[in-house]
Amino acid sequence: MYYFKKTIYPAIMNNLSFYLQQRIQEINIDLSDMKNIDYLQLFKWLRDKFPSLSYDALFELYAFHNNINISNLDADFKKQLIQQYKNIPPTYLPLSRNIINKYMDMALYEAEQALQYNEVPIGAIVVFDNNIIGYGHNETITKCDVTAHAEINAIQIAQRTLGNYRLNHSDIYVTIEPCLMCIGAIINARLRRVIYGACEPLTGSISSQFQTLANKNVNIVTEGIGPIDNTKYGTILKRFFYNSRKNKFFNDF
Ligand SMILES: [Zn+2]
Repeated sequence: MYYFKKTIYPAIMNNLSFYLQQRIQEINIDLSDMKNIDYLQLFKWLRDKFPSLSYDALFELYAFHNNINISNLDADFKKQLIQQYKNIPPTYLPLSRNIINKYMDMALYEAEQALQYNEVPIGAIVVFDNNIIGYGHNETITKCDVTAHAEINAIQIAQRTLGNYRLNHSDIYVTIEPCLMCIGAIINARLRRVIYGACEPLTGSISSQFQTLANKNVNIVTEGIGPIDNTKYGTILKRFFYNSRKNKFFNDF
């Protein structure tokens, strides 16, 4: 007696619409990896690239992931699924290490500019569609303005560049974890991602002192990524404060 091993064709061809298969390939995800990726996460990534994608795609992904027919999902269950999707923290398509390094280094260059004016050396860059649309460093002394932090300056330029106070599809790169004021501005500007170089233990408002982006009571669309490299991006600031304390010590005598 012969047993023929049943040929397993990728189930994906049977369950997912051609339209959705194409969208998935357009975000550079291999269809054979699909089962290993959380369907909520995948739908978030797809929505990042195709904002008008309907919830039907989410239902399709769920059915595919669980090997069931989409017609088995009733209205209540679909509502639950949408709620689950809304509850997961914002995440967008992963950024390549090269892209992160490229823009973080530009933010570091901005931080170095601040040193020339004896300002606290923090720099920020706003990027939209691979173009720099805003940049800035701390100018609190120069402008005599406590709100003139690097992020605020960069956001203001970005808003003027786009002619829009909303920066939905833009990312901000900043050398040091933002303070409460700046994370507030970032959230209000609806920036998509905030990528920070080093932690700021005293005032940092993403992971260190406050976890603002984890607050489920506020409709936050911003994803926080960092710290990228505490030594590389934090040293300039530590050295600055070390030198200013040293100078103060000598001036006091
Ligand atoms: Zn700030």
